[in-house]
Amino acid sequence: MIKRSFLIVLFSYFLLTTIAYAEENVDEEEQKINLFKQMEAITYVPWYYYAAINQYESNIRKASEEKKLIDIEIPDEKWYGLAPQTSNNPSAIELFLGMGRDGDGDGKTDKHNEMDILYTFGNYLQGYGHTEQDIKAALWNYYRRDLTVLSIMNYARLMNKYQKITFDTTSFPIPQGYNYSYRNTWGDARGFGGRRIHEGTDIFANYGTPVRATTFGIVELKGWNKFGGWRIGIRDIYNRYHYYAHLNGFAEGIEVGDVVEAGQTIGSVGSSGYGPPGTSGKFPPHLHYGMYKDDGKSEWSFDPFPYLKKWERNTP
Ligand SMILES: [Zn+2]
Repeated sequence: MIKRSFLIVLFSYFLLTTIAYAEENVDEEEQKINLFKQMEAITYVPWYYYAAINQYESNIRKASEEKKLIDIEIPDEKWYGLAPQTSNNPSAIELFLGMGRDGDGDGKTDKHNEMDILYTFGNYLQGYGHTEQDIKAALWNYYRRDLTVLSIMNYARLMNKYQKITFDTTSFPIPQGYNYSYRNTWGDARGFGGRRIHEGTDIFANYGTPVRATTFGIVELKGWNKFGGWRIGIRDIYNRYHYYAHLNGFAEGIEVGDVVEAGQTIGSVGSSGYGPPGTSGKFPPHLHYGMYKDDGKSEWSFDPFPYLKKWERNTP
């Protein structure tokens, strides 16, 4: 009898851990959101700010680094302040003006503990207040970089709007049923504006062909540029900036700060650019599509051609 109940207990233990293990793999997204919501309950800082900061920091980690549930890394000098960098004593760290806090209640501040990291960041943000402006000021003081603050605030907006943290849907910029052609022109010389190399792919199509956002994101820029003509820039949550140029015009009502979905029409193909505002027709109509990546220090362009090929195959 004793033996049997022991086995039942043992079996339930394995069953439970197996379920926990399966859930961990299947729904990492839910697990993360739960963590962020726990933090919101403690600090009153909305969960999507934790999610956005974590997303941003995950984006700037090198590909070789292992991705964790929480990718936020608080630099030693911020975490410890003037306390010894071996200290895990919450009161010592606080006394020496370090940020590090104990989030999981084990009495220690551990720079590698997820709860400690999140609670430390939340405690820092909370010190500035809870409004959008407060959070923005706190982020600026922490990162001291405009693009970083803008990106995080935008990711937060997107995550709050859709109540999720993963935005993997993609679209080819030209909808099916329209004629278009493109080839790999990365790095080619350009005809206008001196010695600049071609940072993008040109997709040739007729005037007025719809242009769609390739990913979810936020409109970061819209207007005229003497090279790009009417152009629009959208940043996705992977620190990538998508640049659509030479447009005929923009989708009605689309403005800087708007959230866009993958596949949403943002404008139409034209031949604007290479002169003062309104210049058009200096070259055949096409969409110039560029992609840029921000690593937290600088931003550079990379070849969108392989992405376009992939999205073209996968887009319904
Ligand atoms: Zn081009």
